[in-house]
Amino acid sequence: MKSSTIPTLISGPCSAESEEQMLQTARGLINDHRVHIFRAGIWKPRTRPGLFEGVGRVGLEWLRTVKQETGLPTAVEVANAQHVEEALEYGVDILWVGARTTVNPFSVQELADALTGVDIPVLVKNPVNPDIQLWLGALERLNRAGITDLGLIHRGFSTPNNKPYRNHPKWETIQQIRSLAPGIPLFCDPSHIAGRRDLLETVSQQALHLGVDGLMIESHINPDVALSDASQQVTPDGLTNLLNALDLDHEHIASAEQLKDLRSLIDRLDHDLINLLFLRSDVSKRIGEYKRANALDIFQAGRWKELVEDRVRLANEVGVDESFIRAILDAIHQHSIGVQNEVMNAAATSPKKEAVK
Ligand code: PEP
Ligand code: MN
Repeated sequence: MKSSTIPTLISGPCSAESEEQMLQTARGLINDHRVHIFRAGIWKPRTRPGLFEGVGRVGLEWLRTVKQETGLPTAVEVANAQHVEEALEYGVDILWVGARTTVNPFSVQELADALTGVDIPVLVKNPVNPDIQLWLGALERLNRAGITDLGLIHRGFSTPNNKPYRNHPKWETIQQIRSLAPGIPLFCDPSHIAGRRDLLETVSQQALHLGVDGLMIESHINPDVALSDASQQVTPDGLTNLLNALDLDHEHIASAEQLKDLRSLIDRLDHDLINLLFLRSDVSKRIGEYKRANALDIFQAGRWKELVEDRVRLANEVGVDESFIRAILDAIHQHSIGVQNEVMNAAATSPKKEAVK
């Protein structure tokens, strides 16, 4: 999944229910040229038994028909080796690992083994619980199996209080997973975060502000009678309205937000630097007092030489320009000598305690 400046839009029903429902939804979606990929759940992981658990294999036939008719690449969720085998047999283009599967390393490993030697994009949803290492672990397992075309889907987390969401977005995880998995495209699934249609716009826009590479939004030709996730699915026209309401200018949004983030980082670092300089200056003062009490010279060439060598070595190690660090050390040193001189002079001119009496 290549990242691009235009967000990749994945849409389609939560679950495949009938050939008609699939085809009508897909026909509606292709009217909006911004939809790139058609999704459908074929095997549904349900919290309680007895709920609709997906149509299984026959849904793959409908999906193949959708692809033939609309030309849209197709994506399905896989949770075990058999799902992988059947999805590949029917020519599904993209697979995704669901939140309830990412949570289980045994299941992810089973998928990784089934995918060994297969060249197909795989998207990994975050685990239901907010454990970023588990998310990363799933990505690594697939990568070790030779899957290189990987992507991540942020679909929110189950937390003690998800209100008003179905799954809490914990937006900070976007930055965290980005730095842990640099270069891996990151999608957002506003449908499973929001859980309700009226929140989709806010959630989608926030995700776009954070620079996600794409959105996965559930759609259904008649959402109210959907067999799963009825309250969060939109009609194809509803999707078009939603997309029209969003500022999709991805690059512009991402760079504006990034600049804002970077500037606040610089602000914080500058504040840290100033606080550290204050602490350093205070320590210099105490050194001055010690030197005065012990009649030592302020400038001690041996110590200064060692200090510079040590700091330059560190600067080289971490990749800070040597002449830059030497200039800063010079300025710090001048200031430190100044502080110590003040201590000495104050001592020389202050009246003796007895005189104050
Ligand atoms: C889905 O995409 O329909 C789905 C089941 O999602 P999740 O794994 O995020 O719950
Ligand atoms: Mn769903």
